Amino acid sequence: MSLQSKKSFAMVDYEKCSPGQCDPEEGRCASAYACPYKVMKQIDGTFEPPMVFQDMCMGCWDCMEACPLDAVHIMEIT
Ligand code: SF4
Ligand code: SF4
Repeated sequence: MSLQSKKSFAMVDYEKCSPGQCDPEEGRCASAYACPYKVMKQIDGTFEPPMVFQDMCMGCWDCMEACPLDAVHIMEIT
């Protein structure tokens, strides 16, 4: 895990994100599980795409690396 500047944050590509595909058994988001700061969450429950509380996101990339469908991207504002 590496900390980036505050201007980096995670974004979920909701076109690609599919919890029922990345975890057909339980519908759990691996990226949300991987987030060490718990700012990515499946607030609507399993089998629903996660949300990112971007204000609190540390831009650490752990969620991006954990997503098997490449549905999480890091945005950088310069
Ligand atoms: S962000 Fe990735 S790991 Fe999380 S539910 Fe979507 S596809 Fe699955
Ligand atoms: S970039 Fe890091 S802090 Fe932000 S949602 Fe992903 S895992 Fe969590």
